[in-house]
Amino acid sequence: MSGPKDRVQVVIAGAGPVGCVAATYLAQRGIDVLVADAGSDSAQDLRASTFHPPTLEMLDSLGVADTLIAMGLKAPVYHWRDRRSGTVFAFDFAELEGDTRFPFRVQCEQYHLAKMLSTRLAELDSVQLLFDHRVVYLEQDDSGVNVTLEHMTGLRHVRADYVIGADGANSIVRKWLGIEFDGFTYPEKFLCLSTERPIEQDIPGLAHVNYVSDPDEWLVLLRVPTLWRVLVPANDGDVNGDLLSDEKKDKVFDGLVGPGQNVQTRHRTIYRVHQRVAKQFRSGRVMLVGDAAHLNNPLGGFGMNSGVHDAFNLCEKLVEVLGGRADDSVLDLYDRQRRTVTHDFTQQQTIENMALMRAGQSDAHQKRLETMRTLAEDPDKRRAYLLRQSMLTSLRDAAAIG
Ligand SMILES: Cc1cc2nc3c(=O)[nH]c(=O)nc-3n(C[C@H](O)[C@H](O)[C@H](O)COP(=O)(O)OP(=O)(O)OC[C@H]3O[C@@H](n4cnc5c(N)ncnc54)[C@H](O)[C@@H]3O)c2cc1C
Repeated sequence: MSGPKDRVQVVIAGAGPVGCVAATYLAQRGIDVLVADAGSDSAQDLRASTFHPPTLEMLDSLGVADTLIAMGLKAPVYHWRDRRSGTVFAFDFAELEGDTRFPFRVQCEQYHLAKMLSTRLAELDSVQLLFDHRVVYLEQDDSGVNVTLEHMTGLRHVRADYVIGADGANSIVRKWLGIEFDGFTYPEKFLCLSTERPIEQDIPGLAHVNYVSDPDEWLVLLRVPTLWRVLVPANDGDVNGDLLSDEKKDKVFDGLVGPGQNVQTRHRTIYRVHQRVAKQFRSGRVMLVGDAAHLNNPLGGFGMNSGVHDAFNLCEKLVEVLGGRADDSVLDLYDRQRRTVTHDFTQQQTIENMALMRAGQSDAHQKRLETMRTLAEDPDKRRAYLLRQSMLTSLRDAAAIG
């Protein structure tokens, strides 16, 4: 890595998966980048674990898809299960063989991607990767952006041609720009438990990805290489103690693998889920990507993937602008394309996926079951559904926006 520079072409706030993808894309095309992250290393918490086909194509163009696939599990098939009736609908991405070079999901924790990319970025001369550096202030004028970074020994001032805000849900970049983050927060919290127990032996025939609709408690069962992850809705009234208690954990696993099994967990995380979209993805020389720009529920695994798609869309245009081959009004196209598909696809599809999971709790249960049966059994509808769930449709829709 080269020494500190006070003038760079692009500052990226945040070295999560989306910031690291943006930095890698730009650095591979000779752009001078500074990446600042408030944390002391890539975060290792339990978050996204699914990589969709178009994301794998993008990562392949950065030269990292093979390593990621080797670290993860290929999951061509996923199940939508109705626990009450025992009905299982299987959806197989292998049907999309003619549409993508990667007709499967890869199940792998997102921190493997962020860690792999940040390790590679740290070795590049054109990149300054600064952990323990928090973006605390920005101010832009016609020719650039002044960014202030806070670190243990004081403040550092950098001037950039452009800034990318990849600083997550509570984005300081978005706040400095004064951009509203409209949407709503679900009333229920989500509890994520992980276990080394081989649940596939308790429930034979499980896919690596299972969405389970249930009248009492819907759940998502996801396999990553060394663990099963279980995601359930949780309310404070569910248990006497807190939602991370053994009481709650036992309640979840008793319903899943049978009573009294005392299943051991590796992680227990409780979090709130939002559906929110920033009113603008661009303000002058500053752009938002990933969770800084949009949040959605995890049903379908679109959060991180759509952030990677933002990064690619934006960086393709930014390289042209910085190379003098395009006017910077092309960055408005980034805003139009990605904000439109965020509203029309990611938000709509995740809200719909949530409604299907909750179906067991409403009178519409039978109707929703029939909806899934039609999707699974009608070849044309199934193909359209697979194209949506694999996110291929959203990218085609974005490309069609001029
Ligand atoms: C508990 C949980 C579970 C989830 N599960 C799923 C899932 O199953 N599937 C799915 O697709 N998505 C899931 N998501 C969403 C997914 O994790 C995000 O969409 C993804 O992490 C977005 O990546 P990002 O790089 O935009 O943001 P982040 O991963 O949040 O990274 C932002 C980075 O910015 C840094 N940062 C923050 N503020 C500053 C600052 N001021 N200056 C410098 N750096 C800063 C942070 O340290 C962090 O490294 C989950 C999210 C949570 C919270």
